[in-house]
Amino acid sequence: MTVWVLGDQLTTHHGPVEDRPEESILLIEAHSFAKRLPYHPQKLVLVFSAMRHFRDKLRESGREVRYYQAETFGDGLDMHFEEYPDDELTLMRPAGGGTDRLEGMVEDRGGSLNVVENTLFCCSNEQFDDWAADRTGDGYRHEDFYRFMRRETGYLMDGDEPVGGEWNYDDQNRETPPDDWTPPDTPEFDPDATTREVRQWVTDRFDGSYHDAPYGGSWADPEPFRWPVTRDQALVGLEDFCQNRLAEFGPYQDAMGRDSWAMSHSLLSSSLNLGLLHPHEVIEQAIERYERGEAPLNSVEGFVRQVLGWREFMRHVYRREQDTFAGANQLDATEPLPELFWTGETDMACLAGVIDGVRRRGYSHHIERLMVLSNFATTFGIDPQAINRWFHAAYVDAFHWVTTPNVVGMGTFASDALSTKPYAASSNYVDRMSDYCGSCPYYKTKTTGENACPLNALYWDFLGRNEDRLRSNHRMGLVYSHWDDKDETEREAITDRAAAIRQAARDGEL
Ligand code: FAD
Repeated sequence: MTVWVLGDQLTTHHGPVEDRPEESILLIEAHSFAKRLPYHPQKLVLVFSAMRHFRDKLRESGREVRYYQAETFGDGLDMHFEEYPDDELTLMRPAGGGTDRLEGMVEDRGGSLNVVENTLFCCSNEQFDDWAADRTGDGYRHEDFYRFMRRETGYLMDGDEPVGGEWNYDDQNRETPPDDWTPPDTPEFDPDATTREVRQWVTDRFDGSYHDAPYGGSWADPEPFRWPVTRDQALVGLEDFCQNRLAEFGPYQDAMGRDSWAMSHSLLSSSLNLGLLHPHEVIEQAIERYERGEAPLNSVEGFVRQVLGWREFMRHVYRREQDTFAGANQLDATEPLPELFWTGETDMACLAGVIDGVRRRGYSHHIERLMVLSNFATTFGIDPQAINRWFHAAYVDAFHWVTTPNVVGMGTFASDALSTKPYAASSNYVDRMSDYCGSCPYYKTKTTGENACPLNALYWDFLGRNEDRLRSNHRMGLVYSHWDDKDETEREAITDRAAAIRQAARDGEL
């Protein structure tokens, strides 16, 4: 009898590792996964180092751990069943849902697989399915789900009412910091011997030469590596956020800064997604700060909304709709991904700045992902599956259950399963929420002509190209009224400018 632990279930506090203390543990490092895409080297270091630390911690505590380094899960299972024929494995259900393939692999080798529920989230499959069953015909709507979860958990609730009287303080989450604002420090976790060894091994083993992609695995910086690889480090990260950044998380949640890659964000996604932290403890720590008067309600509610609302929502919508997302492309976007996503080489200050950050750290915060990268991809017309693959390869916190709904559903509006309208914007948005435009050679106020900001022509061209699909959307009425104000000559100039921008991006000259 063995507990099989997947690489994103690294916890001794929940699930079968905790519930079955007598059983040994199976962990498989499947290296072929790491070769499917030109993954950021820091993502590979993070996952493999966290797995090896988890193994060592379990062994120190006296657990027997069978740790196989194999090409595939199949090869790892071959090694396991050769030593322990007929073994029964217990597995916590993967975050994304399906276990048919894994069951088949185990049974083909003479074993059996006992699947238990995934307890690494706040909302169970049953809870979500019950919630969704009551709401038919209108797709999945986050705000409704979020209120349901507040009621279910009692977080920030005063009886049946939300603490403070409002469910959502989103309107207090849109400030930009003053010029003399000093970004709070962010924690760094110096690589120990295990991480250094993994880093060297990743550099030697996953050099990207097996990819057709022009830049293979060498497109991003392996160091400095800064991400927590153990639960102890993740707890330090959580404490650091609550102490130093939570209070300003709310007001600056949507702000972007050239000199502040983290703003006041938590930087906890990779630890949450690997299982090093549980969302309940993260939420409860934040609420405690509010209750102690150390962080205001708009910040704490904003944070709880992300973790209890969006994160859980995305996971369950993916679980139920992954087949829809797999081929979704409702706007028929077919442009290949421009190389600048790998190189960061563009004069557009916002795009270059965000991509540079991703190359250095495998991270950018939410608004940069949504309103710079996805916005550019959506208005440019990039194939949503291509940009989804890029996000998967580029981010340390990328896993199918969370990346795909965010990119395909929210970011590019390739599916309308969870969004009612595309997040498309002109330079106005970037200018209002960041200081990028001040350092950009493109003119934010111009739409056409050689030095006009590309976001402007791409935005209007996007509206024009998708008029048949989007005009009837009542949330798009206002923007189409502005489109209606443009005469034929202006529209033609926009189309020409957008075509020139696409060509420049293809030629590496944007
Ligand atoms: P904070 O801003 O501090 O937020 C706190 C936590 O809330 C995050 O750690 C995360 O766990 C959760 N959260 C917030 N928004 C979301 C969301 N939309 N979906 C799921 N969880 C959310 N998140 C990932 O974890 N992995 C991804 O691969 C990923 N890809 C994304 C791609 C696009 C195009 C977009 C628009 C968003 C994506 N997100 C992804 C969601 C979000 O951007 C990140 O969770 C967040 O930026 C992580 O940084 P942080 O920990 O500092 O988050």
